[in-house]
Amino acid sequence: MELLDDSIVPEHARELKQEAREFAKEHIEPVAEEYYESGEYPHEVLQAGMDAGLVAQDISEEYGGKGFDLQQILAISEEFYRADAGIALTLQLASFGCEIMEDYGSEEQKEKWLRPVAENEQISGLAVSEPQTGSDMAGMETTAEKTDDGYVLNGEKYWVGNAVEADWLTVYAKTADTDDRYSNYSMFIVPTDTPGYEAEHIPEKMGMRASKQGHIVFDDCEVPEENLIGTEGGGFYMLADFFNHGRIIVGGHSLGLAAAAIEEAWEFVHERRAFGRNVSEFQAVQHILADMRMEFEAARALNWRAAEKVENNEDAGFWAAAAKTKSTETAVDVAERGMQLHGGRSVLNEYKISRVYRDVRIPVIYEGANEIQRNLIYRQGAL
Ligand SMILES: Cc1cc2nc3c(=O)[nH]c(=O)nc-3n(C[C@H](O)[C@H](O)[C@H](O)COP(=O)(O)OP(=O)(O)OC[C@H]3O[C@@H](n4cnc5c(N)ncnc54)[C@H](O)[C@@H]3O)c2cc1C
Repeated sequence: MELLDDSIVPEHARELKQEAREFAKEHIEPVAEEYYESGEYPHEVLQAGMDAGLVAQDISEEYGGKGFDLQQILAISEEFYRADAGIALTLQLASFGCEIMEDYGSEEQKEKWLRPVAENEQISGLAVSEPQTGSDMAGMETTAEKTDDGYVLNGEKYWVGNAVEADWLTVYAKTADTDDRYSNYSMFIVPTDTPGYEAEHIPEKMGMRASKQGHIVFDDCEVPEENLIGTEGGGFYMLADFFNHGRIIVGGHSLGLAAAAIEEAWEFVHERRAFGRNVSEFQAVQHILADMRMEFEAARALNWRAAEKVENNEDAGFWAAAAKTKSTETAVDVAERGMQLHGGRSVLNEYKISRVYRDVRIPVIYEGANEIQRNLIYRQGAL
């Protein structure tokens, strides 16, 4: 039986899902372990993804992309993350944050900055989190002070995907200090070769090792006025809107990982023998597999329903947070059970389940820790 079957996927996304699957099989799966071990940036796979037309293509056709919608990106995510989450994250981060410019930027900005990313000549990233603050988006401390010619940025960002590798970033910075803490932030385009921009990789991670995050220091880093995206003070709201889309995709990260965990566990117990029979013959084991499958299907149904809701902008905040929370926690749960079913072999690096087990710990945190999601689910799902 097919876990990531396409009956739940809208028709317009099915062909692309198949392409993503074939790409993942040919280019991601065979090198996943190698990149996990080395922790290197998967330049070759990224290039192959670009050649296959599967990277940064959420950017609209008007600016050189293919205009993949949310459901198409979700379909790609499931397939890529099933093959390997670290490489998948690198492929998907190449245009991370571009949606903000697409939605709120000027024509000139889109022509200048989006087109090279869509045409795979440049990669970008989104810098929001800071060393001391991640969850409290209205508590970030990096400032952007207005000057005669533009804005001068000072402060630090942490965890930023592609901070070292990217050509430019969308940066979230404080432009005011009013009592309305949600109106104090703005979004800026910051080319990474701007004087005063310094970035280095953060220490090695235990999971998603083939993706790279960085620590940025802005030291009087000046950008021209035309690099402000949208209106000053609108940053928090732009981000909230952006995260509604992002959380559906992060749900997809975890659905791919959960599918991998179930497949690995299923295969293992049907081959492994104990007490003179296959481990899969013990009813207790069958029940674990049954539970894993039920949880997976429930999460997947919610995630795809939420994708449609967010695409149609119907209570998007609620649905996005609910899908992200359910899918990411399901992945943690099934990976844990998958580990148990692998016995001692679960802890050997060469077994994919051990990689999946480490990777599933990450989506419960990024794009907003699940405690924050629960706040949103309660508040935005009020009856
Ligand atoms: C692999 C990876 C990639 C990332 N990529 C990016 C990126 O590209 N760009 C970017 O800007 N950021 C990125 N992040 C950062 C990520 O978004 C933050 O780690 C996340 O938002 C949590 O922030 P924090 O780590 O500072 O945790 P904190 O805010 O310090 O929170 C720590 C913990 O405290 C608890 N907590 C906090 N607030 C509350 C509350 N209100 N109620 C209950 N409990 C609470 C939660 O358990 C939470 O996990 C990435 C992170 C990882 C791990």
